[in-house]
Amino acid sequence: MEIEKHRVVSNKLSYAKGKRPDVPCILCAVASDDPRVDNLRVYREGDLFVTLNLYPYNPGHLMIVPERHCLDVRELSEAEVLHIHRLQVMTLGVLDQVYSPGGYNIGYNLGRTSGASIDHIHLQIVPRYRSEIGFFDILSDSRVIVEDPRVTKEKLEHAFAAAAGANSRQAR
Ligand SMILES: [Zn+2]
Repeated sequence: MEIEKHRVVSNKLSYAKGKRPDVPCILCAVASDDPRVDNLRVYREGDLFVTLNLYPYNPGHLMIVPERHCLDVRELSEAEVLHIHRLQVMTLGVLDQVYSPGGYNIGYNLGRTSGASIDHIHLQIVPRYRSEIGFFDILSDSRVIVEDPRVTKEKLEHAFAAAAGANSRQAR
């Protein structure tokens, strides 16, 4: 438990200090399977993909991302907006099924002042749970429930593949 606690905290701290892979854009790097980044993509559909956040706020914290380097919602075409919405609906279905959260926070951060740490636009989907880990929980060692992102990735890849299969059967 001591090691686990340390891992969770140090990850967050190194992220806050800006230790990031040396690539011009981390999401373009994920889109192009650049080996310098930990690729936590769980699903790809057309020009969009869904990836885990490497430093999740909560288990199942996902981002829906256009593959092209786009900085603002105003650059998205209506077709892209519709596609993002459809993928959002699918993503919520998958997260409901795998994690059964009590609710979600969904949105974009635009600009550094908003707290965005990546310029490339991404729709954040953060599941919320009735009993959540907080910083004090980590410090007091009372609960450590943060899941390793690689474990999350495997679970969600399977769930997305199953959901995509179900969607294509419905479309026929
Ligand atoms: Zn980019």
